[in-house]
Amino acid sequence: MTGIIGAMSSEVEKLLEQMEEDKAEKISGITYHSGMLAGRPCVVAQCGIGKVAAAVCAQTMFLRYAPSELINVGVAGGIGSGVHIGDVVISSGLVQHDMDTTALGDKKGFISGLSLVVIPASKRLSEITVHTAEKIYGSEKVHLGIIASGDQFISDGKELGRIREDFGASACEMEGASIAQVAYMNGVPFVVIRAISDNADEKASGNFSEFCEKSAHETASLITGILPKL
Ligand code: SAH
Repeated sequence: MTGIIGAMSSEVEKLLEQMEEDKAEKISGITYHSGMLAGRPCVVAQCGIGKVAAAVCAQTMFLRYAPSELINVGVAGGIGSGVHIGDVVISSGLVQHDMDTTALGDKKGFISGLSLVVIPASKRLSEITVHTAEKIYGSEKVHLGIIASGDQFISDGKELGRIREDFGASACEMEGASIAQVAYMNGVPFVVIRAISDNADEKASGNFSEFCEKSAHETASLITGILPKL
């Protein structure tokens, strides 16, 4: 079974429309929909915004459904001049840009429990996703890179510059690295797939309102494209 988590309804609704659902159960306010999607058994959940909601959802999914791999899908702010609204960023690894124990001598983003900064995504899942995405979107719109998560909507150039300099990230969002940490702690392969809704700069809130739904919906065909290959 494949686990799929999105934060907002726009990020999972197209998948749920296509799912042959067997069961829906609500735990801690989050509904888990299980059934068949693109010929594969899946469990799909909308976790809500931010790292805590995402962690609760991922851990519950592991304990209750034991998925063999986990996909986090959604939208993100694109970082860098080559990453445009409507592009797709696929994770090579995840960082928590708001994890900071540098005062104690640790590196920026160091996660003490795991003893690392970058949580590596599954190479196999990332490769399958990049390959499928390039066929759907064209290779110039597909980026493999670091995705940075934190409990802030990033909408200014200074913050954005800090995340780019500290971590070399290609996108920023609010859930991926939390789901990555839970997956890593459970020894389950994962990938994060983010369609770009904005560029995390001063125009981000306007762009997010305009493009969030469109970018989110475009990821559905990518997910249904990769599921038969897992
Ligand atoms: N109250 C709003 C909050 C949305 S937060 C709501 O419930 O709709 C923005 C969401 O989009 C988060 O899930 C985050 O992962 C993603 N996101 C898109 N652009 C982002 C940016 N520039 N910075 C941080 N997260 C971003």
